Amino acid sequence: MGNKTSMTKKILRGMLLGLVLGSLMNNFAHDVSWVQDYLVMGLFHVLGSMFISMLKMLVVPLVTFSLICGVVGIGDIGKLGRVGGKAFAYYMLTTALAITLAIALASFFAPGAGFELAGAASSSFTAPEAPPFTQVLIDLIPTNPVAAYAEGNMLQIIFFTILFASCMLVIGKKAQPLMDLADIMNDVMMQVVNVVMWLAPIGVFALMAKTFAQQGIDLIIPMLGYFGTLVLALLLHVSVTMVLLLKLFGKVNPITFMKKMTAAQIFAFSTSSSNATIPVTLQTVEKRLGVDESIASFTVPFGATINMDGTAIMQGVATVFIANVYGIDLGIMGYLTVIGMSVLASIGTAGVPGVGLIMLAMVFNQVGLPVEGIALIIGVDRLLDMIRTAVNVTGDAAVSTIIARSEKGLDMYVFNNPKAGVIEEVNLPHAATKEKEVY
Ligand code: ASP
Repeated sequence: MGNKTSMTKKILRGMLLGLVLGSLMNNFAHDVSWVQDYLVMGLFHVLGSMFISMLKMLVVPLVTFSLICGVVGIGDIGKLGRVGGKAFAYYMLTTALAITLAIALASFFAPGAGFELAGAASSSFTAPEAPPFTQVLIDLIPTNPVAAYAEGNMLQIIFFTILFASCMLVIGKKAQPLMDLADIMNDVMMQVVNVVMWLAPIGVFALMAKTFAQQGIDLIIPMLGYFGTLVLALLLHVSVTMVLLLKLFGKVNPITFMKKMTAAQIFAFSTSSSNATIPVTLQTVEKRLGVDESIASFTVPFGATINMDGTAIMQGVATVFIANVYGIDLGIMGYLTVIGMSVLASIGTAGVPGVGLIMLAMVFNQVGLPVEGIALIIGVDRLLDMIRTAVNVTGDAAVSTIIARSEKGLDMYVFNNPKAGVIEEVNLPHAATKEKEVY
């Protein structure tokens, strides 16, 4: 049992080791072909990609079974609608707060004013197609649920699973075997998550080493104004806005909350994907923070898809930055449009790496900023994507906690217990010499 607490530390060590080693390689072994071929694009690439695939592998079955258990656990369709409505309202509110803070801060620091455009704009950015909002609404409903599961379309999966599980409730006793089965499957999937977590220190190390070997810190220097303002806004959102919301509406200790979020934040940081982090976020929110499964199983995957505070902050700062570079004055109406567009854009786009740039293109089109301006910020976006994804995931967990508190679904004993739900060492059967009760 002594190993229990050390897992987050091990993951943290893996992350730091990867960061240092990757940066050293970037500085000293940039031209050494065997390092690039066999380590960066060989070992690190393979281990990192395998690890991300493992996380993604968990998402669909985990969300499905835990959502079925969640809906059955709530047992009341009215309450389900209430939790859904609250989650949607909170997610939109926090995103709007985030981007407003970003625009205010960026207007104050004015990054990009006097930026030398020559040369920089020679690289180009072609805006990918963004779906119109009406299509987002239509696409909520899967024409073929099997296809939705196969593609991992999160909103469609959530829609169908809730409908299906609600009907299990309607059928009642007859559906009991199915409910029991979902319960068992859910437990098994949680155990699979534990096994994958056990491999996390290596996976996180490989992801970090590869990224930092390829991504030189020197890219940041000419973009320091943009980078610095953005990181400051992200920090303020987490340390002021979220802390206040947690205190005022969640009535919980924000420091305890933040401490327990470390593992999920590291996963988000190293994978740059809220979606791939769902298994870890779900585990953290339920087992470490004590949010009832009936709430977390819905709010976490929903949040990973529609709630992106960090991404909205990037859009706010990027808008002001590009407007300054091109000497365009958006005016108050322009900025209000940016806020509205960013909130809407976050609904229709999934939490996967780099999606923030696609959303930014949607926003730029709407307010008439040059989309090719995005080329200026692409260089530093990989790194910022990591940081903002950690913020996105923190937002999902914070809202889940607040909603759970308001629905009397937050177990304060678990929340306040520093050891609750720490990632468990896994004894696979052949090695199981001693009895171990995980949950
Ligand atoms: N990578 C982010 C996420 O998964 C989205 C983005 O900002 O690009 O949450």
